[in-house]
Amino acid sequence: MLRIAIPNKGRLSEDARELFNDAGLEVRALSDRALTASLGGEFHALFVRAQDIPEFVADGAADVGITGWDLICESARALEPLTDLQFGRCRLAVAAREESGVESLEDIPAGMRVATVFPRLTQRFFEERGCPVEVVPVSGAAEIAPHIGIADVIVDLVSTGSTLRVNGLREIATVIESTARLVVARDTMRDTSAAGRVRMRNVEELVAALESVLRARGKRYVMANVPRERLDDVRRVLPGLNGPTVIDILDGGTKAGQVGSHVAVHAVADARTIYRTVAELKSLGAEGILVTRIERLMA
Ligand code: AMP
Repeated sequence: MLRIAIPNKGRLSEDARELFNDAGLEVRALSDRALTASLGGEFHALFVRAQDIPEFVADGAADVGITGWDLICESARALEPLTDLQFGRCRLAVAAREESGVESLEDIPAGMRVATVFPRLTQRFFEERGCPVEVVPVSGAAEIAPHIGIADVIVDLVSTGSTLRVNGLREIATVIESTARLVVARDTMRDTSAAGRVRMRNVEELVAALESVLRARGKRYVMANVPRERLDDVRRVLPGLNGPTVIDILDGGTKAGQVGSHVAVHAVADARTIYRTVAELKSLGAEGILVTRIERLMA
């Protein structure tokens, strides 16, 4: 049994559940409020707070966990990231009140008060820059601190920056960039006992399942009928994974005894530029262009 700690609520929980569903590891809980659930096969979910997941994985209460890189770094526990899950993208940023006159890190004098939910990362960030500050730990809503005189500057998570702007704060530096990660304890990775090896085999199976979904999300499957004489140009437009699959079409524009004028091509293409791929195929005379999502793409 592989115990997987998954955020029970908050920004990461929905994306994490969706990823498991897409990987075929559907949450089979007895109720919405269940704290644990089978994911099928060897996999079992434990629903806990994102903030607690680094501790739970490091202490062996869970075998692997999903949480933000910011929380993993702040915990300073012996964890190894296995997979960047690409959701929960944000950055831990330094921000100051618009009218404070603080426009860059150079404007922050040693000893200035900095309010944050991330005291460890904040302390280290300023120490590494030779500017030790007085960290004021808060448990949330750091944005208010500069307005009520608790601190001059804050270090907080930002994704679009609109919360900072609404609260009259200016972003002046990035401490770290973060996304959700799948993590395992370093001790678990090093465990060479028979049970440990079985556990790591299950971890590898989980990583392969999740990564195949993540890989597929960035890709589309393209099918089209293209003029045979334009195949070289089509290959340039559709490099695919190993070039497109080219298939003869039964009676594809044939007159009796002649080779068909069109062939069908199938290929995997980048989702981000699919509109351009389709336009280029059209300009090469492609017909019957079909674009579909891919469920999983193995490495
Ligand atoms: P939660 O407090 O449960 O909503 O989870 C917070 C985690 O979600 C953070 O530690 C980040 O890893 C992640 N996250 C992603 N975007 C943001 C954001 N704009 N603000 C705060 N947390 C974010």
